[in-house]
Amino acid sequence: MLEMLRKIVQEVNAAPDLDSVLDVIVRRVQRAMRTDVCSVYLLDNNQERYILMATQGLNKKSVGNASLSLDEGIVGVVGQRAEPINLEDAAQHSAFTYIKGTGEEKFHAFLGVPIIHHRNLLGVLVVQQKASRRFDEAEEAFLVTMSAQLAGAIAHAEATGSINQVGSGEKTESDRKFEGVAGCIGVAIGPAVVMTPLADLDGVPERKTDDIKAEVTKFKQALAAVRRDIKKVGRSLAKRLRSEERELFDVYIRMLDDNAIAGEVIARIKEGNWAQGALKSVISEHVQQFSLMDDPYLRERATDIKDLGRRMLTCLQESGPALSEIEFPEDTILVADELTPAMLGEVPTEKLAGLLSVNGSGNSHAAILARSMGIPTVMGAVDLPYTRIEGLTVILDGYSGRVFVNPSEDLAQCYRDILREENEVNAGLEGLKELPAETTDGYRMPLWVNTGLVTDVARSLDRGAEGIGLYRTEIPFMIRDFFPSEYDQMETYRRQLEAFAPRPVTMRTLDIGGDKPLPYFPIEEDNPFLGWRGIRVTLDHPEIFLVQIRAMLRAAEGLDNLRIMLPMVTSVQEVDEAKQLIAQAVDELREEGHVVNQPLIGVMVEVPAAVYQVRRFARRVDFISVGSNDLTQYLLAVDRNNPRVADLYVSYHPAVLKALQFIAREAHKENVSVSICGEMAADPGGAILLMAMGYDVLSMNATNLPKVKYAIRGVSFERAKALLQQIIVMDDVDKIHMVLRNALKDLGLGQLTRPSIPD
Ligand code: PEP
Ligand code: MG
Repeated sequence: MLEMLRKIVQEVNAAPDLDSVLDVIVRRVQRAMRTDVCSVYLLDNNQERYILMATQGLNKKSVGNASLSLDEGIVGVVGQRAEPINLEDAAQHSAFTYIKGTGEEKFHAFLGVPIIHHRNLLGVLVVQQKASRRFDEAEEAFLVTMSAQLAGAIAHAEATGSINQVGSGEKTESDRKFEGVAGCIGVAIGPAVVMTPLADLDGVPERKTDDIKAEVTKFKQALAAVRRDIKKVGRSLAKRLRSEERELFDVYIRMLDDNAIAGEVIARIKEGNWAQGALKSVISEHVQQFSLMDDPYLRERATDIKDLGRRMLTCLQESGPALSEIEFPEDTILVADELTPAMLGEVPTEKLAGLLSVNGSGNSHAAILARSMGIPTVMGAVDLPYTRIEGLTVILDGYSGRVFVNPSEDLAQCYRDILREENEVNAGLEGLKELPAETTDGYRMPLWVNTGLVTDVARSLDRGAEGIGLYRTEIPFMIRDFFPSEYDQMETYRRQLEAFAPRPVTMRTLDIGGDKPLPYFPIEEDNPFLGWRGIRVTLDHPEIFLVQIRAMLRAAEGLDNLRIMLPMVTSVQEVDEAKQLIAQAVDELREEGHVVNQPLIGVMVEVPAAVYQVRRFARRVDFISVGSNDLTQYLLAVDRNNPRVADLYVSYHPAVLKALQFIAREAHKENVSVSICGEMAADPGGAILLMAMGYDVLSMNATNLPKVKYAIRGVSFERAKALLQQIIVMDDVDKIHMVLRNALKDLGLGQLTRPSIPD
C-alpha cells in the first residue's frame, strides 16, 4: 500500500498542470481502491461552490459543470465538518443531493474526505461504488492519507494555473498570494523580470569531436568571456559593496581556475568530447555532489556552479551574454528560480526595486548581499510559478515574506501607501541623527546597532548609533573559503572598532551552526538548531576560539572599546571556560608585548535554560544581552526559518514578554547592565515595552534605528510603563498587537506602525 501511495504521489507531483494532476488522482485512486468512481470536487475561486473538476466513473460531461453550494450535498457536509463521511447508501443521507447528468444514481456506497492544505479547505475527494456497503477502515485510512498528501500538489497546481502569461488573452486572477521567507525587509512594487537560465545544460547532447584543439580553444574563449562578465558584474556592484562582499566574486572566479572546473573540462575534451558536452558532464557531477549535501550552505554552492555552467554554455553557443542587453524597466523586481550573487549585479542598481527567489533561504549568498544593499527581498517562495510571471506586476513584502502577483488596484494602493509612508517617515527622521533618544519626561534610552557587513558601519554612524550591540562575526567567516587568519580577522574587526571608537563595540564570538554553517566547516545534523551551535562549537575548538579572541584584542589595541559577547550559552561552566580562554589570550598577547586591556565580557540569553540562570551569569560577567530571535524560537518551539510555522513565531507572545521582563529584573538584582539585540528592539512598539521593562540598551539594525528613536522621543517613561503593565497581563496575542498599535496611534506615532495588510 505504501509503495502504491508513494507512486501515486510521485506521478501527481510530476503532472504539469491542474487538469493533469486531478486526472492522475482520479484514475490512480479509483484503480488502487478498486472502486467504481473516484471524483474530485474543488472550491471555486470565490469559495462559494464545489465544482466537479475530475472524475473516473461519473459522466465526464459533468466535469466543470456539476456544482454544489457549500452547504449542499454530502460533499458539503464533508467540507463543513472537515472530516470523512462513509456511507453504505448515500441516497439515504438527509443531505444527499442528486446532481443531474452525473450518472450518480447508480452508486450507493460513498466515502468522501476533505482536501485540506495548511488549514485551507480546497475541496473533497470522493469514491463511490454500486454495491451498498461501508468502506472498511483501511480504505478510509488510505483515502485520508491520499488526500492529505495530495493537497499540496493540488494547491501548487491551482496557484500555477491561476497565473496566466501576459498576452495569453486570459484574465489572470488578481491578488494571487505566495508565501516565502523574508530575505530583506522593505516593500517593492514593480514589473517582474524573470531571469531564466541562460542556457539549458541538461539539453546539451553528447557528441564526439576529432578536432580537440579547436574545441579547447573554443572553451578557453568562453572561459575568458565568462571571467570578464563576472568581473564586470563585480565592478558594477563595487560601489555598493566593500572588499569582503566583493570577495564572493573572487570565489566565483576561482571556481573557474585551471585546477578546478576549467581543468576538468579541458581533460574531458582531450578524451574526445566536444566542449559543450565536456562542460555539461563536469558541471552536472559537481552540482550533484553539492545538491546531495545536507548542509544548506554547501547546497547553495550547487547554485553557483550551475550558474557558471550556464554562463559558459551561453558563450559556447555564441548567443552572447543576453542579460547585458536586457532593457530593465523602472522598479524591476528581479525573479529567479535560484537567485545568485552574480545576478544581482546584472540590473542597474537604480532600476532594481526588489528580489524574489523561488529557492534558497535567508542564508543564501544572494540574501546576504541583498541585506547589505538594503533591497527588499523574499526568498523560498516555493509555490511561485516563476516562469509565468514575466512582465506582471508584483508586490514584494520583505517584512512578511509575502508576494502578490497581479495585485488588484486596492491592494497595490495599500502597498503604495506603505511605500510612500515609509519614504515620508524616513525623510522626516533624517533630522534625528544628532538628537538624543530621550523620552518626553527625560529618560535617556541608549540605541545601538547590530552589524555584520562592513557596509553596515557607515550606515550606522549615519543614523546616529551610540554603539554596536551585536557585531555578528560569523558573517565575514561565511563569505570565505577557509577560516580567516588571525591577521585577517584583526583587520576586519579593527575597522568596526576604529569607526565607532570611543563608542563601545560588542563583538560576538563565532556563532555558527544552526542556520549558519560555514562552507569549509560542514556540520551535518538532523536538528541543527538543537545541535552544535555557537559557544558549543568554539569551546570544542579552542584553537578557533583563541585565534578569534586574539584578533579581537589586538584589533582593540589603543582603542579600548571592545566588549566580547558569548552566544548560545546554556550553563555557567561554558561561561567559566570561555572566560579562562579569554584570560589566556590576554596573558599571551601581553607576553608578546601587545598592550591589551581586559575587555568587558557578556553572555547572550537566548535559550530558555539561560533565562533561569541570569543572576548566576550576571555574577560572572560585565553585561547580559538578550537574543530575542533565538529565545522566541526556543520558547515557542518554532524554527525561525521555516515558512510553514512562521505564523507561530510571535515576538509578543505572553511567554516571550514574561521571559524578557524576568531577565531584565534578574540582571538588575545583580546590578549588571542588560541589553537586547534581537529584532524585537527594532520594532518601535517593542522598543517602548523593552524600555519600560528596564533594558539599559536597545540594539537593532541601522535601518530601523531612526524610527525607534522617534518612538522613544514621542512617549514618556511613565506612559511606557503603564502600557507594559496593561500588556503583560494579557493572554491574547492579537489583542496585544492591537493595544500596542492603538497606543502608538494615541501617542501620535501612528506612522511608525506598519499598516495592517489584507491577508
Ligand atoms: C538573536 O538570536 O536574537 C540574535 C541576536 O542572534 P542571531 O539572530 O544572530 O541568532
Ligand atoms: Mg541568536
